[in-house]
Amino acid sequence: MATDGFARETEERLIRYAAIDTQSDETSSSSPSTERQFDLLRLLRDELAGMGAEAPRLTPYGTVLATIPGSAPAPTIAFLAHVDTAPQFNATGVRPRVIRAYDGGTITFPDDPALTLSPETSPYLAERRGDDIVTASGTTLLGADDKAGVAIIMTLARHLLAHPEIAHGPIRIAFTPDEEIGRGVHADLPRDLAADIAYTLDGAERGEIVYESFSADKAVIHIEGVSVHPGVARGKLVNALHLAAKIVDTLPQATLTPETTSGRQGFWHIYQMSGTSAAADLSIILRDFELDGLAAHGAL
Ligand SMILES: [Zn+2]
Repeated sequence: MATDGFARETEERLIRYAAIDTQSDETSSSSPSTERQFDLLRLLRDELAGMGAEAPRLTPYGTVLATIPGSAPAPTIAFLAHVDTAPQFNATGVRPRVIRAYDGGTITFPDDPALTLSPETSPYLAERRGDDIVTASGTTLLGADDKAGVAIIMTLARHLLAHPEIAHGPIRIAFTPDEEIGRGVHADLPRDLAADIAYTLDGAERGEIVYESFSADKAVIHIEGVSVHPGVARGKLVNALHLAAKIVDTLPQATLTPETTSGRQGFWHIYQMSGTSAAADLSIILRDFELDGLAAHGAL
């Protein structure tokens, strides 16, 4: 339960930041991909300035940087979190709400009575009985990924800036855009961050530390058919949808997919298929823990 000051402050920040729409857009060519991400980025820069953080700034590539000055000789450590939320679900009008002392039962949503969340479908919930649970209201995502990370870093910054007697080295803070659309950080960020060690707060389960990651590629297959009126199509029409289906059917399915692999095994995963008989597109993500493996998925 949110009984101590840190938990209360983190909860308050999460709810406040989650209500701000910061959805990124995979189809955009601008950087950041959406203007709305600046709504939260500017707020965070201003809040860091209000706390007394050193040199808070918003870079032209849409990243907030600030420093908590060191109080003892130690390496410079950086903490990062991303401000954008996933493009796959409605992110406008987020109304976070808190379920106090979760009883382990089925959670319902005020804005969508048909929607439920339960330990049967989300086993991790069963382990969180007695905790306070924050959810959206049913018509939007919540965006705790990664506004929980943002809220934790902001709470940490506020506390350390108010207590310079706590011994620590220089701490750098970075809030970045467009993580959900796989852009990666801007090429200038490692230089601008100027940290010896960096941690991203963007985890899944409480208490978990992830110390390795796969390498990721995306493949887009564009198929041009030959469009001919069906009435006179014999021997001429080439249907792009047939070709798309054949390509998918040709790729491995009993192996090398997320549902048939685990641990450090790599995979290919088709997540979007769209088109008409004239033209079709397949969007595929590729994942592997070895660069050779990633290249092999791409070659496939
Ligand atoms: Zn995330």
